[in-house]
Amino acid sequence: GNIQPKRDWVDVSDVVQMAAERTRKYFPDRAIETSIAQDLPLVSGDSVLLGQVLFNLLDNAVKYGGQEPIQVFARRDGRDVLVSVTDSGRGIPPEDLDRIFEKFYRRGKTDGRAAGTGLGLSIARSFIEAMGGRIHAESPAVKKRGTRMVIRLPVTTQEKP
Ligand code: ATP
Ligand code: MG
Repeated sequence: GNIQPKRDWVDVSDVVQMAAERTRKYFPDRAIETSIAQDLPLVSGDSVLLGQVLFNLLDNAVKYGGQEPIQVFARRDGRDVLVSVTDSGRGIPPEDLDRIFEKFYRRGKTDGRAAGTGLGLSIARSFIEAMGGRIHAESPAVKKRGTRMVIRLPVTTQEKP
């Protein structure tokens, strides 16, 4: 794409906490639990774009999720920092797990309280890929056992100046 993210050192822990706070302000009736590993390594990228991505995922978790609290995890996984957003909603059938990242793709008009545009996840994927990372969706898609959105961002190998 033509997105030019900044190449700053990003403290994922800060960004996750700010996105959770922002979501709680928009949706005070929804519980969001965060679990962030101590001493997460920095990643290279753009904290504003990452914050927007996390807000999009949390917005979806609120709109399409269930009654259980939304869970946000951040931890190191090998060479990546892994961030996940898990909800207890209806889930996503296997054939749609990749399509939901397409521009304007929405799974039917009955999805969610307010109609969206179907752009949130395509923007999320382009931002994450522009930062050298990856994003995908997981869902057991049976008995409404929810959705887990997973972001991986490579740990920066450079020293902070
Ligand atoms: P927008 O984000 O632009 O307001 P949107 O939420 O419809 O609109 P996306 O965020 O790109 O668009 O999501 C695309 C579709 O993927 C949604 O319409 C919904 O059908 C499905 N989806 C996304 N997140 C979830 C989720 N956590 N659980 C179940 N379905 C989801
Ligand atoms: Mg959305």
